[in-house]
Amino acid sequence: MTQDLFRQDAYLRECSATVVSIGEQGIVLDRTVFYPLGGGQAGDSGVLVLADGSEIAIADTRKGKDAEGHFTDEICHQGAPEMHEALSKLKQGDAVTARVDWERRHRLMRFHTTTHLLCHLVPQLVNGCSITPDYARLDFNMTDPLDKDELTAGIARLVAAAHPVAVGSISDEELDANPALVKSMSVQPPRGSGFVRTIRIGTATADAVQVGGEQMIDYQPCGGTHVANTAEIGAVVVTKIEKKSATTRRVVLGFAPAGT
Ligand SMILES: [Zn+2]
Repeated sequence: MTQDLFRQDAYLRECSATVVSIGEQGIVLDRTVFYPLGGGQAGDSGVLVLADGSEIAIADTRKGKDAEGHFTDEICHQGAPEMHEALSKLKQGDAVTARVDWERRHRLMRFHTTTHLLCHLVPQLVNGCSITPDYARLDFNMTDPLDKDELTAGIARLVAAAHPVAVGSISDEELDANPALVKSMSVQPPRGSGFVRTIRIGTATADAVQVGGEQMIDYQPCGGTHVANTAEIGAVVVTKIEKKSATTRRVVLGFAPAGT
């Protein structure tokens, strides 16, 4: 298995690691700071630095899959196509430094936390989500129209309030007892280990499962990488609202141009 260091500390930019295997799905390390595509969030890119100082560019990161197509607990770093020759130098047991493209990842973190703010501003179930370095979109299962400027102002207010963002966990039983915590119809929280990772925005000190506390902004199961405080999101705006279907409203997020 690959130890997923980014789940406890999303701010780790690099780590030393050992090559476990190299295969069709990519390079598997014993530990990594690279987030694999999942929960709507794009996989990380970056470089693996070899012992001789040379670098292998990583274009994307995915969860490993077994022969039946089920996810394994391995994380696969996919070498960029032009890295074919460099890859052939790499072998099992090699020591590398895994370094994520931090500028890109930080944009993903800012967007991901903003999508959780949207869950607070639009208390409806989510039936689609995509977070990329350049834009993010969240689909709500609803028929009422949404106002672009109102949502942008709502995001700005929550960013200005500088709410802390905390990683936690909830037991499968607690989650089963509080099904309303799951806001997504399309992504189910990963079960099996007995606990599910959670992201809490806001300073409520009440028991984690008590949603609706005065300062509680959002609390939900999530495996993604987030900023530590909403202030770090900066200038994210709603660029578009689309009516994807009779029962789906899509909110598209983007970065406001610098200086606005
Ligand atoms: Zn999330």
